[in-house]
Amino acid sequence: MISVTHLGFPRIGARRELKLALESFWKGDTPAQALHDTAHGLRERHWQLARQAGADVVPCNDFSLYDHVLDTAVLFDAIPAPYREVYDENPLTGYFALARGLQDGRRDLHALEMTKWFDTNYHYLVPQFERDQRFVLRGDKPLAELAQARALGIRARPVLLGPVSFLKLGKRSDGGDPRELLDALLPAYAELLGKLKAAGAEWVQLDEPALVLDLDDDDRDAYRRAYAALAEADAPQRLLTTYFGGLGDNAALAARLPVQGLHVDLVRAPQQLESVLPLLPDDRVLSLGVVDGRNIWRADLDAALSLARRAGDRAHWLAPSCSLLHVPTDLELERKLPAPLRHWMAYARQKIEELRLLADALTGSADANRDLATAASARAARLASPLLRNAEVRKRLAAVEPAMTRRASPYPQRAKVQAQRLGLPLFPTTTIGSFPQTAEVRRARAEHKAGKIDDAAYRTFLENETKLCLREQEALGIDVLVHGEFERNDMVEYFGEQLDGFAFTAHGWVQSYGSRCVKPPVLFGDVVRPQAMTVDWTRYAQAQTQRPVKGMLTGPVTILQWSFVRDDQPRADSCRQIALALRQEVLDLEAAGIAIVQIDEPALREGLPLRRADWPAYLSWAGESFRLAASGVGDATQIHTHMCYAEFNDIIEAVAALDADVISIETSRSRMELLDAFVRYRYPNGIGPGVYDIHSPRVPSETEMRDLLDKALDVLEPAQLWVNPDCGLKTRGWPEVRSALRAMVQSARGLREQV
Ligand code: GLN
Ligand code: ZN
Repeated sequence: MISVTHLGFPRIGARRELKLALESFWKGDTPAQALHDTAHGLRERHWQLARQAGADVVPCNDFSLYDHVLDTAVLFDAIPAPYREVYDENPLTGYFALARGLQDGRRDLHALEMTKWFDTNYHYLVPQFERDQRFVLRGDKPLAELAQARALGIRARPVLLGPVSFLKLGKRSDGGDPRELLDALLPAYAELLGKLKAAGAEWVQLDEPALVLDLDDDDRDAYRRAYAALAEADAPQRLLTTYFGGLGDNAALAARLPVQGLHVDLVRAPQQLESVLPLLPDDRVLSLGVVDGRNIWRADLDAALSLARRAGDRAHWLAPSCSLLHVPTDLELERKLPAPLRHWMAYARQKIEELRLLADALTGSADANRDLATAASARAARLASPLLRNAEVRKRLAAVEPAMTRRASPYPQRAKVQAQRLGLPLFPTTTIGSFPQTAEVRRARAEHKAGKIDDAAYRTFLENETKLCLREQEALGIDVLVHGEFERNDMVEYFGEQLDGFAFTAHGWVQSYGSRCVKPPVLFGDVVRPQAMTVDWTRYAQAQTQRPVKGMLTGPVTILQWSFVRDDQPRADSCRQIALALRQEVLDLEAAGIAIVQIDEPALREGLPLRRADWPAYLSWAGESFRLAASGVGDATQIHTHMCYAEFNDIIEAVAALDADVISIETSRSRMELLDAFVRYRYPNGIGPGVYDIHSPRVPSETEMRDLLDKALDVLEPAQLWVNPDCGLKTRGWPEVRSALRAMVQSARGLREQV
């Protein structure tokens, strides 16, 4: 008999209860006990919810107060020396010090580095190991959660991040290879497995998503040694879970590791079932990931059913493709979503219901087969819906010619015309777009949304903010101005709201990191731009000043990357549609007399596929989409782009191929190290390496920024260099922004006098 399970549930709570509890605890408004109570309650509620939805077995220890990778580090006592004292004094304070930093007058600790979890928008804290790192089983979180579940009479399967993925996700302070620590780590894992077995766990889930990456011989060796060692332990049965893609060339390795069960992602890689089945030793069972844990559409249940049938008696569990962490909790709450859309979607709870239905249908239940037909027709209704297709857009897209994705003239020629038109000084100063979104700005937006202030009053408010922002920039002496983005709630949502083909949820929250959540727009249909989206505000801003004002757009790849995207056509096609809409916007801005248009692509790099072999195809359509959006303008219109949080070494060719006239990047924290890739490539176009770290309220001095500019000038041509902060200023306050930008302008002026 096949059972229904899942690999992990969203932790934040359908109404973001965990976020509220965390933030109120951090502010000091509520005691630790209140936070623990909320966590306790959420775990119980989520187990019950999954059980009611039809899960036979649920995981435990999938919950986290902040991040499961940090939990694993703390569990095995991988606490870097500077945090040790505070952790020993109070583990909860120590835990949050690792997660968020700590400044308590006595101590000044940075947060651990944070980075993206595989190709998701979830961020984990990077474990920091020493060269001679020792691991001991220090915590009891998995045991405590197992005990909580068992006390409720719930069969729970503890989830652990597997030892190899754990080490591979971390870094060693001496720059050495964390995999060398495997032998030191394994006894602690073995001890934990023994304790879990003694506490009544029948199975334990070991997450090894690294198995879907490109692995080298050392990785493979680490996997074999790790799982051989754990097989020796007096352990529960082990379910090895792989997700976010196919096992590919690691299939034989994964299939033969000495565990009892293997979970495979059959949503991203349905074809891998055929390759895994013959590799699987006789005593192994499979967990089939047949419902998409990364998207919000109802599953293709017929396809899932045939996969399950094909797996035959090897199929022990039906599960989502990966943890449900990456989807919202419960669609039931989405009362305001238009009806057809609501019928097409499934959140975490509904995904488990789908699995239940599949499992029942497999046993031949007549009810289940009837419900399955209903569910299948809901999916079919979406795919056939006229809301998904717009003939006009498809025609226009089919008519796109290669020439439309190239600027008319090469960069040097454009640069000359633009220099003449703009008349900017050497080392022009600018900002990345947003200015402080003060409490006032947010309040006005909320009141407008709630109908407390009318459109006209809101418009006047925004006009004033914009005007003041321009005055500030003029007073500071900035050369290329921005309107400040006060009318925008979020750089993707703002565009999604104005484009047909996007929908917005009220409760579609997904954890990004810690207490931070995002609510991705839902891209469900063909993208149409009914009218200009930014021209009005840009024109208004340009009318207030003699200096050039940049038109600000979010790029096609970033809009795609930060949305839930339709699954009935390749992502590339959806991206091109967005690009086409943006192209019209760029042309409208140009026609309105705007001389500079910036198209932000901060998510270009994070869209990279997990496997290198898939990079060229992605970079090709992503780059083409950007160029389709950007290349309609004449030589005299200057196209900027902006990217942050990015390593450029392995994508520099693709970045150069975007052929933006100017690119601004985040470089201040790496002290211009990120510029190296551009230098080595001899990047020819304009470039603004950020000189001001906007992630911190700290105000950098003129000398500091001048130092960075000197470093940049050592390796760049003077005519290439722009002067700007790392990113937008929306999270900062005006006083610090004023001081920092004043110093930034001074540093550029100083440099001009020198050369
Ligand atoms: N123009 C955007 C801003 O300044 C860019 C944000 C980003 O790169 N994340 O806010
Ligand atoms: Zn940025």
